[in-house]
Amino acid sequence: MTNQSDQNLTAENSGNVKSRYLPNYEKSVQTFRLVVQIAFVLLCIWIGIEFYYFVKFLESGGAAAFVERPPGVEGFLPISSLMSIYYFVLSGEIHTVHPAGMFILLAILIMSVVFGKSFCSWICPVGFMSEYLGEFGRKIFRRKLKLPRFLDYPMRSMKYILLGFFAYSIFFVMDKASLKQFLDSPYNIVADIKMYYFFADISRFALIVLSVLVVGSIILRNFWCRYLCPYGALLGILSFLSPHKIRRNAETCIDCGKCADVCPSNIKVDKVLTVISDECTSCQNCVDVCPVADTLEMKSIVTNRKIPKMAVGITTIAIFLVVTGAAMLAGKWQNNITPEEYLKRQESVRAYGHPTGPAEIRELKKDKNVPTQENQ
Ligand code: SF4
Ligand code: SF4
Repeated sequence: MTNQSDQNLTAENSGNVKSRYLPNYEKSVQTFRLVVQIAFVLLCIWIGIEFYYFVKFLESGGAAAFVERPPGVEGFLPISSLMSIYYFVLSGEIHTVHPAGMFILLAILIMSVVFGKSFCSWICPVGFMSEYLGEFGRKIFRRKLKLPRFLDYPMRSMKYILLGFFAYSIFFVMDKASLKQFLDSPYNIVADIKMYYFFADISRFALIVLSVLVVGSIILRNFWCRYLCPYGALLGILSFLSPHKIRRNAETCIDCGKCADVCPSNIKVDKVLTVISDECTSCQNCVDVCPVADTLEMKSIVTNRKIPKMAVGITTIAIFLVVTGAAMLAGKWQNNITPEEYLKRQESVRAYGHPTGPAEIRELKKDKNVPTQENQ
């Protein structure tokens, strides 16, 4: 990407002894990343519209035109999906109530092992909104606001505490039988419809909480993702297994600090040789902004080979498409709840309570009045 005449350029902004460097002419991948993010946001909006008409069909008692329930909505049921994966591990069976959610989560877990938290910066619609709210905040405050370390560390632990609660409730409290009991339960069957009503009939308290999160994300970039998202916490833990890390060549680095400045996760990229962080989302911002060729790259720590920036995004999308596509081709994508059963469930959908702790999860009983796979 460089030619001879470009070599030996005087470094701007460096002010250090490395006054000559090869400029980095590699094309940025940020426009491509934005296109991918927008595509997934549009996909979520499409799923939301389809699901809206499905609920309207249920609310009409079957009188309105039937619109098929989009299985992709199960991507917004991460706890149920995690239980389905655990149930599959224990039983070898794909649970049939929210199978699409299980495959979506499986794809996300695989991409985290391959490229760290690439889901957060390439696919997640919440990550997308957080990113641009943070950009908006940066324009307002004309700088990136950060919490002091003594506050940042304990607050980052909150998402791990939330994850710990869910992990304990699932992996330590539940066995195969209680997992099946929960997954078969009326609450789980209508969990997507209850989620719809959470937003459609949003309570004042929930609206206040959402407003705080939006304002928080404008003031502190990635407020939700950095401090509260248990999903991100899980992916962050898995990211330590990823062999692909951002690496800095200290020999050619001119210590300009641009990589650290642009990093949305506030990682001090300019101070380390290898970024080993549960907050790195493989967004490639730091690699794109580095002014020196071959200085900051994503590399395999096994082979030390460079991973092209574009390959991070393309592989992330490919993992998503291959896993979900395989589920569709295998006929495992759709659940086996009939429209008739959904119509019956709809009559008491608001009565099904949310289990609030391990004890309640254990105690969930099946509703004997409504046919399910088991009591039909
Ligand atoms: S270290 Fe680089 S790839 Fe990781 S989050 Fe920061 S800017 Fe993105
Ligand atoms: S690695 Fe970071 S500090 Fe070093 S030259 Fe690149 S952007 Fe500047």
